[in-house]
Parts: sequence; structure tokens; C-alpha cells
Amino acid sequence: MFVLAAATPAKWGDPILSDESLEPFDTDRLEKGDVVGIGIHTGNALVGYELGQRARARGALVIFGGSHSTLFPEEAIERGGAHAVVKGDGEVAWGQAIEDCVNGSSKETYDGGRVDAGKFRKARWDLINRKNYAWASVQTVRGCPKHCSFCSVWRTDGQEPRQREVNPVIEEIVELRRLGFRFIALADDNFYPVTLEDLRVADRREDKTRYNELKALRDERFELMDLMAQLPSDLNFFTQITMESAEDPEFLNAMRKARIKGALVGVEAVTPEGLKDVYKDFNLAGDELVERLQSFRKHGVYILGSFIFGLPSDRQTTFEATAELAKRSDITFAQFVTLTPFPGTLDFERWESEQGDNMISVDGIPVSRHWLIPQEKRPKLLTPHPAMSGEEIRQGTQNVWNNFYSLRASWKRSGILKAYRNRLAFVVASKVMLQAFGNTGLSTDSARASRATRWGGIGFSLLQKMFAAAPMPDLEVPNNDKLGDSPSPASQSLTAAS
Ligand code: SF4
Repeated sequence: MFVLAAATPAKWGDPILSDESLEPFDTDRLEKGDVVGIGIHTGNALVGYELGQRARARGALVIFGGSHSTLFPEEAIERGGAHAVVKGDGEVAWGQAIEDCVNGSSKETYDGGRVDAGKFRKARWDLINRKNYAWASVQTVRGCPKHCSFCSVWRTDGQEPRQREVNPVIEEIVELRRLGFRFIALADDNFYPVTLEDLRVADRREDKTRYNELKALRDERFELMDLMAQLPSDLNFFTQITMESAEDPEFLNAMRKARIKGALVGVEAVTPEGLKDVYKDFNLAGDELVERLQSFRKHGVYILGSFIFGLPSDRQTTFEATAELAKRSDITFAQFVTLTPFPGTLDFERWESEQGDNMISVDGIPVSRHWLIPQEKRPKLLTPHPAMSGEEIRQGTQNVWNNFYSLRASWKRSGILKAYRNRLAFVVASKVMLQAFGNTGLSTDSARASRATRWGGIGFSLLQKMFAAAPMPDLEVPNNDKLGDSPSPASQSLTAAS
């Protein structure tokens, strides 16, 4: 949202930003001719469509965007009241869509495609209400070279990493620390886009063009992390990364120096069969997996492990085996999700074509359009499993969540921190994870789910206070020797904005 604010042509003034996950937007404030942009992903598409209809009824011009609109533009027009839909990246197409809507010459769809990293915009952090957020996020690279079957990222954002230049990234981080953020997510699809194996394979070719490209991308990662290491010591970063980075001690050491202290790693499954199920056989299983995960910890990188239940090869014993492995491998946080075929993924396509006309429906909506079914009526599990019932998978998953985040286990894991205040923050963060991501999604009882949402919200407010730091309005951008002493055009504009 803050990046799209930056992509809004200056002649229209500053956009009013509204985050529906904090507070519903009051459509009564809209007037005829206002332009409303609504970004949706699959999980919140229904809320977005309702908002679009209300905005259109007020006379506003409605433009949809986001990953879900990219996949289903016609849905936003039919159900969301869209005048226009921007598919793909919004950096360039969003501005054009506004212009055309205002001039009365809008097209139904605008294909923003995948813009080059050089065209990524620095977010308008001057528009954020600091008090509403526990942490902020900066994107450093878009796209992922892998091809996991349950993931749509490599198909929507592409497999060729589009990595931003170092300077605008560092300037955004500095701007956030100036505002008082000390926790920042590097919101990348994969912070480690070039593996050592990629380099080895490219180096075997006679033509070194690819090798040189990959090496340049890797060198820029180190350049970024070197600069991050020069920032105030109270900053903490977290990101998403593939497990292969654990066999790259040079990279892990650079992460530690840069204070990238946390990383989400998609473990997905703990057996070779499970990994094959999701086309992720570049991961390890069993004892080797434990060792690989432990090596992150040895390098000072704390892991949020992500696991999927409901894979075809899963059995009742999988739940216990996963819970036991999660404990043994010293991971700090974990999330346990049930296999859900999201649109844009290979799993979704396979499921839709296998079910054909036999797809079951809820109130006339086939479950292959599960996001259109109201939350309280939406089945928790969508794909049939060869050995377990849906309820067995749901219950087994819930048990693993409860077991991993019991008060005793969370307090024990908080031992990685010294100060009592930090340990307390850790336990609160663990409970937020359980409530916000474990209990809301899995509970079959709607009262329990809304209680979990409420507690998750209270936990987030507590975290916001615990995570905040005093603003540092005079913080300087560290000097990047590559540029010499003169600020880049990008850093000049940052100074002007702040
Ligand atoms: S799950 Fe992660 S590693 Fe796999 S394709 Fe998606 S972003 Fe890449």
C-alpha cells in the first residue's frame, strides 16, 4: 500500500491510505469521482469485493489490483464493482489506470506485468501512522527461482529474481528507524535467490554470462548486508529464505552481522515422500534436516519453521514426528498449516481438473472458489486425503500447534534471550502466533475463532508497545563506498521528503 502510494502520480496529491485489517474504511466519506484502489489477495478477496461495491455505490471510480485480481480480473469486475483491474505489478500501470478513469477512458484491465527492479518505488513511509504497526517491511527482491507446487509466487512474481539496488533499500530502512521502528521485515519472496549450487552449475558452462550475473546478484546481497551492519544496534530484521542458505556459512555470518535475526524457512514436510509431494526435494528430511536447521541457530539466525499437514503421504504418525522434529531442531517459532490449494498454484490446477464436475459446492459456490464462500461456511479442508478424514487432519494440526506453543514450551524457548522483559515479549509473541494464525484458521467454532482474533489483536497491541523505539530523526544513511561521498539522486529525494 505504501509502495503504491509512492506510485501515485503527484498531480493527484497524497492518497488517503486505509488498512482494512486495522479498521474498516468508512465509505460515507467518498464523493462522486473519487478514485478508490483496492488491493486483494485470495484470503481477503470477499471483503475487498464488498468494499468495492459500497465504494461504487457512492459514485467512486473503483480500481482493483493485487495477486488475486491478477489471477481473476473478471471476478473483481463482476463481484467487486471494479471499473478497472490492474494485473501484475502496480508501479507503472496504477498511475495510468487512475489517469484513464478520471478522463473517462478507462480500460477493463491493465497489464502491469513484471517491472524491472530499477522501477520498484520506495514506499511512502511518511504516510504511515507509526502507532498502528509493531513492525514495518521493506522489499529487497521480488520473485523466486524455485517451483513449489503449493506456492503461486514463482508463477506471479516470476522465477528470475528482480533484486533492488542497495541504496534505495538502505534509505528506506533508515527512514523507518528514524520514525521509531526497530523491527523490520525484509518482505522478500526469497532473500537467498542465488545458491552455491546455482553458482557451481553456472560455472561449469563454457559461457560465463550466467555465472557472472548470478555472482553479481550474490555480491549485491553482501553489499546490502555490510551496510545494514553499520545501522543502529537496536535494529532487528527478519525475512524469508530457503533452507539451502544453511550450507552457506559466509552468507549466514553476513546475516548475523546485518542483524537479520529471524527467518521464515519453509520446511513443509519432514519425510522425503512429503517433500516429493510438494516438489520441494531440494529440502532435507530426518536427521539431516535437524542438523541443517540447527546450523541457522549456530549462526545466530532464529527460525520460524513452516510445516504443511494433509500431504498425500501424511499419516497419523506424521503429526507426532513433526512436533518432535520441530523441538529437536531448535527452531524458535513454527507455523503448521493444512494443505490448501490456492489459485495460481500447480496444486490448484491439478485439484480442479481431477475433481471436474464432481467438485462439491456450498450454497451453490463450488469449493474450487473457496474464497467466495463466507468464512463461517467455508470448509476447513478442501482436498480429499487417501488415508485420513478432514477432521483427523484438522485435529492433528491443532494438537501440534497447542503442543508447540504451550506456556511451558514457549517460556523454555524464550531462554535464548537474557533480559526478563525480552523473554516476556517472546512469550507474548508466541501466544500471538498461536491465536492469530493457529486458532483463527483451524477452529470449527466461530465464537472460539473470534475470541482468538480478539486475543490476537490484544497481543499485537502489546507487541507494538514492546517493539517500539525512540525515533532517531537525525539518523544518517551509511556511506556506501561504491558511490563515493555524493548522495545518489534517490537519497536526495529522501532527504527532501523527510
Ligand atoms: S514456497 Fe518459497 S521457495 Fe517455494 S516457490 Fe514459493 S517462495 Fe519459492
